[in-house]
Amino acid sequence: MVWLGPGRHLAPGVVRIVAGRVVAIERARGAVPPRALFPGLVDAHVHLQIPALEQPERDFVRWIGVVMRMRAQADEAAHRAAAEDALRRLCADGVTAVGEVDSTGCSIAALRQVQLAGVCYRELVGFDLAAAAARAQVDEASVHGTRRCRAGLSPHAPYSVSPALFRSARRTGRLLAIHVAETPAEQQFLRTGRGPFRNLLQRLGKLSAGFRAPGVGAVEWLDGLGMLGPRTTLIHAQCIDRRDAERVAARRSPVVVCPGTIHYFRRPPPPVEQWLAAGIRVALGTDSRASNTGLSMRGEMALARRLWPALDGEQVLAMASSHGGAALGRPSLGRIGVGRAADLVEYPMPDSAMECIDAFTRGAAAPDAVWLAGRRFAGAEFG
Ligand SMILES: [Zn+2]
Repeated sequence: MVWLGPGRHLAPGVVRIVAGRVVAIERARGAVPPRALFPGLVDAHVHLQIPALEQPERDFVRWIGVVMRMRAQADEAAHRAAAEDALRRLCADGVTAVGEVDSTGCSIAALRQVQLAGVCYRELVGFDLAAAAARAQVDEASVHGTRRCRAGLSPHAPYSVSPALFRSARRTGRLLAIHVAETPAEQQFLRTGRGPFRNLLQRLGKLSAGFRAPGVGAVEWLDGLGMLGPRTTLIHAQCIDRRDAERVAARRSPVVVCPGTIHYFRRPPPPVEQWLAAGIRVALGTDSRASNTGLSMRGEMALARRLWPALDGEQVLAMASSHGGAALGRPSLGRIGVGRAADLVEYPMPDSAMECIDAFTRGAAAPDAVWLAGRRFAGAEFG
């Protein structure tokens, strides 16, 4: 069976591959092995370099402090090793494309080794940066991607990025990813200038004396800065209201939700069914190991089915594949199609197509094989 999208599968089917690309999708003649071919999964939001915490920390602002300390203590070799370890796990589990937020510049080499597709967004942080310093940071972060992985920018979040830094990132025309409205405290800070984020920025010495809160929530604030649009992916959007969702839909910004992070911080699941019905492209991401119990897109799909039980297996599979490609501004990713890279997951199919999709999206059995541009992933790519 070849899964081509919700309501579209070919059984029995075969995919013909030449030089890493799909050249034909045909009805199989004669006996074929009991296998399903799914598109390679797209992990639309991940921080490959961030390792798991030694102790769980579920207060988000304290959690940021722990992650910042860990990052400061790790050297380049540790960042690179963490990224390779994360990629080894993700690829073996069926991921062939990522939306990586790279905070140090070390990820692109690891992504090149395994020829992963997607976008490597260099992270931008600076709540106190004026125009010249913002431009300098963006210039330094504007590096090249790989043949399969584009280079993007990730202005981190409205509580950690100045208006000048947001604007500098936007002017590059690159693909963008922004963490947005992740907690009520973020919305409180933007609306009133008060709360835990004010305290955090003061402790870090990043709050200038003349700071005035925007007086609006995160989505309206970003829209006012001209940041929303189809090339800007919004991460989490945990605390947006109906009007914000209408604005996101109108601007055609994709959204990435991370079920493992929702579960880790014990947050209520946002209304993904409503967002999908409003036409928002909602994708899935693992986020980092620091806010998750593992690094598995099969695990994210299984959790998504529990968090949003009204969604069926094919909808969740689309969120983990074609919606992920759309969320990364790379709509050819996460789909099996003639002319596209042969990024495929081979999965056992003892029963019907629908039972197989159900098993895959509920986290049962690991893939039999994962193919990246026609090459079977072996796990030894990192030496
Ligand atoms: Zn993140």
